[in-house]
Amino acid sequence: MKNALEYIESLRSLKPIIYCNGQKIESVVEHPMTRPHVNSAAMTYAMAFGPDAELATATSHLTGKKVNRFTHIHQGTNDLVNKVKLLRKISQKTGTCFQRCVGMDALNATFIVTHKIDQECGTEYHNRFIEYMKYVQENDLMIAGSMTDVKGDRSLKPGEQDDPDMYVHIVSKNEEGIIVRGAKAHQTGMANSHEMLILPTTNLGPEDKDYAVAAAIPVDAPGVVHIFGRQTNDQRRLQGDIDTGNAKFAIVGGETLTILNDVFVPWNKVFMCGEHQYAQEYVEKFAAYHRQNYGGCKVGLSDVIIGASQAMAEYNGVPKANHIKDKIIEMINLAETMYCCSIACSAEGKPTEAGSYYVDTLLANTVKLNCTKNMYEISRLAHDIAGGLIATLPYEIDYKSPVTGPYIEKYLKGKADVPTQDRIRMARLVENMTGGTALAESMHGAGSPQAMRIMLYREANLKEKVKFAKNLAGIKPQVAQEQAAATKEDK
Ligand code: SF4
Ligand code: FE
Repeated sequence: MKNALEYIESLRSLKPIIYCNGQKIESVVEHPMTRPHVNSAAMTYAMAFGPDAELATATSHLTGKKVNRFTHIHQGTNDLVNKVKLLRKISQKTGTCFQRCVGMDALNATFIVTHKIDQECGTEYHNRFIEYMKYVQENDLMIAGSMTDVKGDRSLKPGEQDDPDMYVHIVSKNEEGIIVRGAKAHQTGMANSHEMLILPTTNLGPEDKDYAVAAAIPVDAPGVVHIFGRQTNDQRRLQGDIDTGNAKFAIVGGETLTILNDVFVPWNKVFMCGEHQYAQEYVEKFAAYHRQNYGGCKVGLSDVIIGASQAMAEYNGVPKANHIKDKIIEMINLAETMYCCSIACSAEGKPTEAGSYYVDTLLANTVKLNCTKNMYEISRLAHDIAGGLIATLPYEIDYKSPVTGPYIEKYLKGKADVPTQDRIRMARLVENMTGGTALAESMHGAGSPQAMRIMLYREANLKEKVKFAKNLAGIKPQVAQEQAAATKEDK
């Protein structure tokens, strides 16, 4: 396993092409726009050597060796539960997305789906994927789970688009491998990953079989270009360490728009090539695994937001006010509700035919749907408690200026024994963790709410619920009623 430093050093040998704000990023480790995201992902490596090592590591079922949990294929419900607990703990330390879960989820989904394709189509993807897994575990790689296509006109299927590149597709095949073209959007952690694992983004018909492609691609493979996304307040990183609120780790995952310009992939890294009938299951498996996470990572973030709100109340001298206590209690309830859903969907996980474990799909979708609301409510309450200061604080540079600094120091003081700077820092943490990009990520990360609603409707077994109700209401099943009527007529 790599430790945090070894992970960071390993990134130096990669040469991905990344553009950001009109410039090329020469080193993701050094550049101020990417370094905080590197620090955050590095925490997934550090945890494997810290006091929570037991949670952060697992025994590989492929090699029997100890591996980082982020490269593990879940072998039981305890693995699924430990995953959630681990994510919560990492979030408490980083206060932001640490990105590496997307790859873990893509690996686990691929493990299941390649097995199924082989069983039904006689292909050899699963063994090929197992070899790839061993390579990922041996080198403790960070994999960017790369699902979301740019999608163009959402009312049209991939092959119906004006531009055929709106979904990643196979352009050609030869004896050595395949060539793919297209782009993947919202790519969390891509800039500081080692490889990406691309997979389909939607269900596909036979006419769209060229869009049914799964493959592992190094982030610096020829033809790959990344464009780094903008985030709320990201320019503050260039101006100091107070105004970002969380200078070491940033506020969200660091996403890219990743373009695949006719990228060659050798066959040993191709895990689906035209088997369109498995695309939907692939998407659903990956999505359910990733939705499971949100009651881990977002609850860890909520722990920090609740702590920051409580601290602001203390700095303002009102921690005992009843309405403040009520709001803190409500925040705790909202956070733990998300956690309950995550633990439940993990504990209710089941073995797959491939031998790995998979979460309960219905419950995993409730996790994420709750997050789309609860994180907004938690943030609203944090704003309520922290006060208007989070929206009107002066610039860090003015606080540090000899002309304006003394005024800010004097007039923005709260409780006498709390340094003004502590109050400012805490307010900035609340501001940055509860607005803009961070909130939008809670809404759309792991899929937009409508995607979860569709899954709930599909998975909830409504027919059975209707049966329960009819039974209690004394309504006989319709077939029996019709039969009874027919018999009466015969007589
Ligand atoms: Fe992991 Fe959460 Fe970030 Fe997704 S949003 S990659 S689950 S930390
Ligand atoms: Fe996310």
